Amino acid sequence: MAADDLVELAKRRGFFFGSNGAYGGTAGFYTFGPQGAALKRNVEDAWRDRFTIREGNREIEAPTIMPEAVFEASGHLDGFNDMLVECPECGASHRADHLVEDATGIEDAEALPGEEVEALIADNDLACPSCGTPLAGAPVENFNLMFATDIGPGDAQPGYLRPETAQGIFVEFPRLKEYARGSLPFGITQIGPAYRNEISPRGGLLRLREFTQAELEQFVDPEEDEPPLDRVEDVEVRLYPATEQAADDGEYLHTTIGEAVDDGVIGSPWVGYYLGVAQEWYERVGVDMDRFRFRQHLAGERAHYAADCWDAESEVGGDWIEIAGFAYRGDYDLSKHDEYGDDAFTIFKRYDEPKTVERATVDPDMSVLGPEFGGDAGAVAEALATLAERDPDAFDAETVTVEVGEGDAAETHEVDADVANFAVEEVTETGEHITPHVVEPSFGVGRTVQTLLAHAYREDEVDGEERTYLSLVPEIAPQDAAVFPLVTNDDRLTALADEVAADLRAAGLAVAYDDSGSIGRRYRRQDEIGTPFCVTVDRDGIERDGPDTVTVRERDSAAQVRVPVDDLAGELAALRAGESFDALVDRYETVATDVETN
Ligand code: AMP
Repeated sequence: MAADDLVELAKRRGFFFGSNGAYGGTAGFYTFGPQGAALKRNVEDAWRDRFTIREGNREIEAPTIMPEAVFEASGHLDGFNDMLVECPECGASHRADHLVEDATGIEDAEALPGEEVEALIADNDLACPSCGTPLAGAPVENFNLMFATDIGPGDAQPGYLRPETAQGIFVEFPRLKEYARGSLPFGITQIGPAYRNEISPRGGLLRLREFTQAELEQFVDPEEDEPPLDRVEDVEVRLYPATEQAADDGEYLHTTIGEAVDDGVIGSPWVGYYLGVAQEWYERVGVDMDRFRFRQHLAGERAHYAADCWDAESEVGGDWIEIAGFAYRGDYDLSKHDEYGDDAFTIFKRYDEPKTVERATVDPDMSVLGPEFGGDAGAVAEALATLAERDPDAFDAETVTVEVGEGDAAETHEVDADVANFAVEEVTETGEHITPHVVEPSFGVGRTVQTLLAHAYREDEVDGEERTYLSLVPEIAPQDAAVFPLVTNDDRLTALADEVAADLRAAGLAVAYDDSGSIGRRYRRQDEIGTPFCVTVDRDGIERDGPDTVTVRERDSAAQVRVPVDDLAGELAALRAGESFDALVDRYETVATDVETN
């Protein structure tokens, strides 16, 4: 299905639609309707279950507005830009790199300098997609994607809406490490909104200005911590390494996580581990694995600090889209905040045994340095201490030479070695301060939702009638079940249907109730939004001897079984947790055909 058709279907069936329609609409903002909000929440819960709870990680919730200093440190203020080209005629804004990529087949135009992109626009006679005016000669500019705001009135502090959830984790590292009792490795997750003032939002949920991320920051000791790779080593993956992307006849590499890490195709075992976990998770939530791959970043695409970086990509409407990124970020983030922030973004790593080391020290006689060097005396003392650490042998001579000040103001001074009071002491060290490295799986929730809808869409024929349905897995589907009284003119049926629906809701199941139109229509309505099971209360179920029963119909096969009302909540909960419908077919009486319509 084409991307536009999917967006249209999502709107019709209550999944998502462009926001603020009554005011002309606002590009880049989408509202999740009742089905979409439930689906999105289920995706988030499944992510939380796998990446937070089952990994033993902890989740936090940080503010979405942060002060400018944070983004100065993180590099977003200077570097979080996209290439903008404006049409000289109609004024429409476009991503210059995307125009070039679409026209030339170049894969990462984003990595090229602006002038080169300008030249490519001119050489390829690219025109404004909105009005057709040639764009040759229009300047390509860096456009910062962060939304700016003011914090407080009056002399307000500049602030920004966070462009990723990650910074809310990094800036709180000094406190978070205490909750982890100063011990590595530990992982912190966050699910929440991120904001980017995208130049050209498009494709429904694919490129929005406000979207939800689910991120994990795994803090590790790069010298000691290993991931539990054995848990995922046999997971089969389809990889698209950078070398294959560059080759003319580049091919996918079908391999296992264990082999890919052993062979060095995946550079970091931690990244490998999370690719394995992600592969299994995407399969669990219903991504079609024939329309899924892991693509390695090309050298130019990679952020300068990321040693190895892979994207999870899904095929939607004929295009491959990035639905998650997996990066080994080294110590980049924490070092930056250590440099710019006031707290220590390090961990004290205790040695197994205390170490005795020799340390060179000085204790300069300030009563001599003061009169001799005046205002420079303090700086001279500091320079002596630094020199003692760096080059203790310098103190063997009668005088030592130190430099103070920087650039043009730099001055060299000679100091009598005796005045420095140089000594070598033995000290016992119990550990050292290290900056943890960060491994980051970063998921786009909206892109996952759109992928699931695209991959779940089916058309077939049931009872001689064409139908379309969404084959969403029960764990993710917006509704767990729908309850129908077969006919509405029989009080016994409607009373029991009401009671069944109420009991299922009390048991924590999301249940729709529908008594309008033919039973066939009611099934179709639920099929269209992906409700996996329909429960019908019919006369047969209450007029026979024994306990009351209802029919349960499975969406994809349209097969039905008759289940006692008392067992219903338990069976539906098991189905939601992943039990197959075949298990019910084995255990209960099957119903031969679709119940007749009223
Ligand atoms: P990034 O920090 O750019 O690697 O983004 C991490 C994830 O967030 C991506 O893999 C996407 O799934 C998602 N994402 C990034 N930008 C957008 C956007 N403008 N709209 C929707 N999702 C996005």
